[in-house]
Amino acid sequence: MKEHKNGWQQLAIFGGICMALLLIFNVFIVPSIKEAQVKETNYSYFMKKVDEGEVKKVQIEENIIKFETENDDGSKQIYSTVRIYDPDLVERLYNKGKNDIDFTGSIEEINPFAEFFVSWILPLIFLLVLWNVLMKGMSKRMGGNSMSFGKSNAKIYVKAQTGKTFADVAGQDEAKEALVEIVDFLHNPKKYAEIGANLPKGALLVGPPGTGKTLLAQAVAGEADVPFFSISGSEFVEMFVGMGAAKVRDLFKQANEKAPCIVFIDEIDTIGKKRDGSLNGNDEREQTLNQLLTEMDGFDGKKGVVILAATNRPESLDPALLRPGRFDRRIPAELPDLQGREAILKVHAQKVKTEDDIDYNAIARATAGASGAELANIINEGALRAVRSGRNKVNQSDLEESVEVVIAGYERKNAVISQKEKEIIAYHEIGHALVAAMQQDSAPVHKITIIPRTSGALGYTMQVDEGEKFLMSKEEALARIATLTGGRSAEELIFHTCTSGASNDIEKATKIARSMVTCYGMSDKFDMVALETVNNQYLGGDTSLACSQETSAQIDIEVNNIIKTAHEKAIKILSENAEKLHELAGFLLEKETITCEEFMDNLGKKTINALQ
Ligand code: ADP
Ligand code: MG
Ligand code: ZN
Repeated sequence: MKEHKNGWQQLAIFGGICMALLLIFNVFIVPSIKEAQVKETNYSYFMKKVDEGEVKKVQIEENIIKFETENDDGSKQIYSTVRIYDPDLVERLYNKGKNDIDFTGSIEEINPFAEFFVSWILPLIFLLVLWNVLMKGMSKRMGGNSMSFGKSNAKIYVKAQTGKTFADVAGQDEAKEALVEIVDFLHNPKKYAEIGANLPKGALLVGPPGTGKTLLAQAVAGEADVPFFSISGSEFVEMFVGMGAAKVRDLFKQANEKAPCIVFIDEIDTIGKKRDGSLNGNDEREQTLNQLLTEMDGFDGKKGVVILAATNRPESLDPALLRPGRFDRRIPAELPDLQGREAILKVHAQKVKTEDDIDYNAIARATAGASGAELANIINEGALRAVRSGRNKVNQSDLEESVEVVIAGYERKNAVISQKEKEIIAYHEIGHALVAAMQQDSAPVHKITIIPRTSGALGYTMQVDEGEKFLMSKEEALARIATLTGGRSAEELIFHTCTSGASNDIEKATKIARSMVTCYGMSDKFDMVALETVNNQYLGGDTSLACSQETSAQIDIEVNNIIKTAHEKAIKILSENAEKLHELAGFLLEKETITCEEFMDNLGKKTINALQ
């Protein structure tokens, strides 16, 4: 059977349905509408009306008589009545009718053309308009042409049409290398064939959101001299069962015709999820996946159709999809490291006007863990800020401010905070900063501020590492937890109370402590046992416990101990430096923002030397 009906077949079916509807309309509905205009009455009423002279027209049929009356005010009404044997009728009508009664013609004087138009043409037009509107709505939902059910709707790009090249992708050198090789293969297949190397059939780009997977694919499209089909996984999901599979077939048919070429399926996890055999599984999705598996097996690697796909949930993909021969290669697009971040910032800074003396390295250091998309956003926010302050070039402070905007939201300049609360916030932040500064294994304080932000933060202490950190030692983890408890410790020490302002610190500290116990093997009790498994590495990395209930209870105790010890350590540090705490908090209250230099100056040379 043919899978997809073409447009004409559909139109023919539609025409048939229209005709049927029209017939029903004319046979059943029109007569009843007409009847509604005609009132039934009895013969004596007819006689009475004739005598009163109100009857204007009479139509005598075989079994019924229809007549029209006109009142004095001119309103008309049609009646029908049974015809009774009445030989004098005609004569009576002549005599009694005050006006001339019209015997001729039919009473329902409708022009036959008008009738035809109203009952056949008008509904047809109406139905056609309805069809059009429906189809438009449908195709909008499917992102394609209404007459192309089962067509893949993949966009085809030729070289340079996306306007992106590998130069637009910064960092991600390993990913670029792998993709450059694929492009080269498509351009010089001979070089590889001579050795006997086979072109990889597919490559899967995996990584967290915003790391440039889609961008890399666009760059491939821009660099390759071959057609590039681009489609998103969600476009296979259709309102009709079986259409997804049909679309896959169509896509590969087109691709095979155009080979050598590249097919890019973005967000492939939409259709490539594991088939888990559960009864309520999604039949449509499985069909689509099966079709994809078949098609990927089916084509000849030498012909030169390369499949690229991108996902941020590789663990949810069906293993059959991942086996060599389908996606031979897995190209990781990880979050950029320090160098990568600097490079990405520079690439995006080219698109805006900047001062010459911008220190991108400093911005990159302050944005550990940011993705490419966030970095691009930071540059754009910086440019917006420059415009807002009436400058025509982006400067360092724009970028620094926009880093904070991305981390903590905009400044809430007119938030009203009472003096008492301001004090608490200042001591809280200095508490963090002092604890950080007094420990060897913690990152230097970069900035402290008590200007509230739209994210809800009332103040924060920014710490920036000197270089890129790939590992976290146990000491660093403990120092980090102690720093996080420093804010609350200062509140307790100075105001003998605690506030809700520490909730975010508590959350972070607990997370680190928990990971130390369950994932990093940093507790003495459990040694190197994995107690938790990470579910989806690239999307938030939520975890699930993999241990007995008793162990789980012990984990809680262990986590509790770590945090308690850190909290005590923070209190100890702060009470030993209470003088500095007061001094710095006063300074912060006055200035609202303290930079790293001001902080260090205030701490005094002696302490810094002692630290080093
Ligand atoms: P995803 O990995 O989620 O598909 P995208 O490729 O859509 O991410 O990236 C979104 C945006 O982030 C890109 O349009 C680009 O502006 C920016 N970006 C991400 N990674 C990079 C990078 N390595 N180099 C330059 N820009 C990047
Ligand atoms: Mg993407
Ligand atoms: Zn805090």
